[in-house]
Amino acid sequence: MQRWFYERKSASTKCSTTVTPKIDDELRKSLDASATLPVRNLDEFVFEVGIATKLCTIDFIGNTCSCREFQIRQIPCSHASRAACAKEKSLYDLCSPYYTTECWRAAYNEVFHPVGRESDWIVPQSIRYVKVLPPNIRRTRSTSYPTSTVKN
Ligand SMILES: [Zn+2]
Repeated sequence: MQRWFYERKSASTKCSTTVTPKIDDELRKSLDASATLPVRNLDEFVFEVGIATKLCTIDFIGNTCSCREFQIRQIPCSHASRAACAKEKSLYDLCSPYYTTECWRAAYNEVFHPVGRESDWIVPQSIRYVKVLPPNIRRTRSTSYPTSTVKN
């Protein structure tokens, strides 16, 4: 875990893009893939992108596309990328803040301190002999656990 956090913290610190490199690459590919798609304004915020059989409607008020990829992934799909390009809107502004480099840095900003060997731990007597029991819960039948584990 320490190495995991250290590597990701180092990578995110070196990163200078607005969104993470993976998302930046996805946005670039999405924009390239949609560059030749026809785009038409339906109003200031609503666009149609594509051709008759593969026509998608993009709404920049709710950031949705009729293909549903945009609202599910919270990254502009190729249709939304094409419409954003036509509207001269930043693709970065259409991404979830969770994909930003700033958020990536914050996720790995903490340092994991080693806990040392268990034999070196100083555990108070009041805690040392506490018997830790599993939570007293009732499982529903929808779980895959056998009914013999049901407790009240
Ligand atoms: Zn779409």
